[in-house]
Amino acid sequence: MKACLKCKYLTDKDRCPICNSEVSENWRGLLIVLDPLRSEIAKKVKIDIKGKYALSVK
Ligand SMILES: [Zn+2]
Repeated sequence: MKACLKCKYLTDKDRCPICNSEVSENWRGLLIVLDPLRSEIAKKVKIDIKGKYALSVK
């Protein structure tokens, strides 16, 4: 799994399927968002698409 440098979305592709930014294998932490509209954490990190996200990406 790799994480998008911009939106932190986790993917196995070479580019983020959401924002088309570069991805990195150097990420930590896992955030699973099932219901972005109701999740306080998702609001805080501005996630509006459900999926798996990294907490930090370098
Ligand atoms: Zn992205």
